[in-house]
Amino acid sequence: MLTVRDLTAHYGPVRALDGVSFTAPRGQVTAVLGANGAGKTTLLRTISGLVRPSRGTALLDERDLGRVPVEDMAGIGLAHVPEGRGVITQLTVEENLRLGALARPGRVTATNLDRAYALFPVLGDRRAKPAHVLSGGERQMLVIARALLAEPAVLLLDEPSLGLAPRVVVQIFDLVRDLVETEGLTVVLVEQNARSALSIADRGVVLHLGRLVVQDAAAELATDDTLRHAYLGF
Ligand code: ATP
Repeated sequence: MLTVRDLTAHYGPVRALDGVSFTAPRGQVTAVLGANGAGKTTLLRTISGLVRPSRGTALLDERDLGRVPVEDMAGIGLAHVPEGRGVITQLTVEENLRLGALARPGRVTATNLDRAYALFPVLGDRRAKPAHVLSGGERQMLVIARALLAEPAVLLLDEPSLGLAPRVVVQIFDLVRDLVETEGLTVVLVEQNARSALSIADRGVVLHLGRLVVQDAAAELATDDTLRHAYLGF
């Protein structure tokens, strides 16, 4: 379980995150929703140690993540897939995948590469191709598959739907849901596409101007008209 307590973060004088507390239960998808600038990306960056909190903590089970160096996060089971699908286009699909296990030496085995290809058959078909031939949706699959090679317990996923066609978004979200069901992964999914995110999430957290507005079961949030109109844009 991931627990966020009173997390507060600044960029210089700008308070981007203001006393946010919530829990992301093990083996569930928790969607983090809110408009542009709500603080969603900052929340993930603060949990994974890329931004130093000015107050508060994030805990992975009992472990205080504030005391874990960024380079050790993957080693303790926390994976962060940032926005932007950072694949190395000159490398092959398989070479990109292998990079994912650098944080956990010895973890790249034929078995877990095969597992990645079983989860994402399109990557298996293209394993020897340079990553620049991949579509946006395939690149998103590659960065998720790469993160999974380090065998995380918790996956922080930032805006995987950005710029993808609706059909591809459904495909990616279905894959995330499958991972949670079959692997028991804990996912924190940041999304502007609130409707799609809630359709696969167990729980949702809504941020506005850095503050937590509400956290509840996804089904409750999806049917709360006032909340949807005010914060979720659908
Ligand atoms: P988006 O969906 O647009 O990425 P978000 O909900 O992820 O929005 P953040 O990117 O976390 O929001 O931004 C929260 C606030 O912090 C915004 O006011 C933003 O302008 C500010 N901010 C974000 N990154 C920086 C930065 N590197 N330097 C200064 N201010 C920043």
